[in-house]
Amino acid sequence: MAKLTFYGGIREIGGNKILLEDDKGKLFLDFGYPYSKYRTFYEEYLKPRPGAGLLDLLVMGLLPPIEGIYRADLGTENLWQQFRRAEHYRRLESLDGVLLSHAHLDHSGHISFLREDIPVYATATTAFIAKAVQDSGIASFDQQVCYFTPRVEECLKGWKQGAYVASSSGDRQRSFCVANKLALSEEAEGFWGRATRQKKLASQPLDDINTCSFNLRCFPVDHSIPGACAWGIETSSGWVVYSGDLRLHGRQGKLTESMIKQAAQLHPRALILEGTNVDKAANVSEHEVYENGFKAINGARGLVIADFPPRDVNRLLTFLQIARDTKRKLTILPRDAYLLKTMRLLESEIPDLAAEDSLVIYQETTAAKSPASWLRNIYQEYSGKIVLAKDVRSNQGDFILCFSFWDLNELPSIQPVAGSLYVFSSSEPHNEEQEMDFRRLHAWLERFQLRAFGLPIEKNGEWEIPEEERGLHASGHACGPDLLRVAREIRPQILIPVHSEQPEFYVDNLSSSGIDIILPAEDGTVEI
Ligand SMILES: [Zn+2]
Repeated sequence: MAKLTFYGGIREIGGNKILLEDDKGKLFLDFGYPYSKYRTFYEEYLKPRPGAGLLDLLVMGLLPPIEGIYRADLGTENLWQQFRRAEHYRRLESLDGVLLSHAHLDHSGHISFLREDIPVYATATTAFIAKAVQDSGIASFDQQVCYFTPRVEECLKGWKQGAYVASSSGDRQRSFCVANKLALSEEAEGFWGRATRQKKLASQPLDDINTCSFNLRCFPVDHSIPGACAWGIETSSGWVVYSGDLRLHGRQGKLTESMIKQAAQLHPRALILEGTNVDKAANVSEHEVYENGFKAINGARGLVIADFPPRDVNRLLTFLQIARDTKRKLTILPRDAYLLKTMRLLESEIPDLAAEDSLVIYQETTAAKSPASWLRNIYQEYSGKIVLAKDVRSNQGDFILCFSFWDLNELPSIQPVAGSLYVFSSSEPHNEEQEMDFRRLHAWLERFQLRAFGLPIEKNGEWEIPEEERGLHASGHACGPDLLRVAREIRPQILIPVHSEQPEFYVDNLSSSGIDIILPAEDGTVEI
């Protein structure tokens, strides 16, 4: 009989870590970064110590105490002695892989800690986004999904105790198995094997998902990041379907529709289904975002700033269309240019930056003297498309600048004219820290006399978007009625909600459907 243990994603949005065990082997379904658990103990200036290896994560309950699955360079034999009596301690002699649903860190981040020989199964797009994000950012030691810098235990001179410090031997890549390996071009394979930060990369060739000891099905679905998929796993108890994160109302909604049909044909024993937006009664579609965004921006005077979630390529394309239709140029940051370039290696319908007149790249004003190699390459390859703060300042009506809160420190160089527009196309604050950032964002807008559109305003402790400015953000997650449709049409024998703060929603609404709803406890095991 197959068993599922839920080490994360129970009564929390994100941090999914679900262990599936069967006589065929053992798999994790996602191995995500648990943001809300981190926030209980840590904040921006108080973080787990990279030099302590696995210790902080295990002691603080951010990683499950499972001996045998983590990187050897982050822990010594002695490390495990103190956890062998811990409540959920166990030793796993083998792990056949991680089925990764998509490249959002709350699903992928903690792959960072797993042994590099444990394969990660994903779509090629997810693997490539994971690499592009890591190449173009500074991934902290607990977010190195695609490759990592091995650490060595070093005793500093005169100190008795050592620390795990980054070795200078170069980065090591994990082994990834992708669902659509055969269609990869030589150029795409080249990207995978290339080091783009300072260190050289010991690259691992991409393999195919058929190498897995389980019979797997990979179903592409629509979500707010490209490459998302649901998984079907054949176990001795029947098929298990894991949804990852999904929606039906996005640009690629048809993918999710076809997943529902194919998953239903498997007559699954169990469906593990997300429930982020169970409390939402309806969705805003990406097309509505276009229409509302166009209305707000068309005729606007001065500069337009568009704030939308990072790596939401669909939203970027929506604003690209708005830019074309309002005769402005969409001005993206180099990391977004790098992501688009990477995605085009796999999907030819992604616009070619070089040929797209309405797309330009913003170069930060205080750029480093010797930029990282990926950045230097972007500046060189698209040298005709680079826009500086002074260019924006002198022709403000020509641009839609893709900035988020974190990029606003460029504004003193740009000096937007009073009455310029800030279009907010993202989600409202979900916790106190984000609320603080929203207050700061409002202060920035006031300082530069920018007009906000679609931005939540604080009223009696609640954050709300003014009535007439709504409909500028299409969530990455299906609303309650859509989720019930997913469950009813796939018709599993058992439904297990994850990635939700209100899993009871499924109990309340599916009690007479003939589907058994199981609400597992955190770290709890369910036999199916
Ligand atoms: Zn997600």
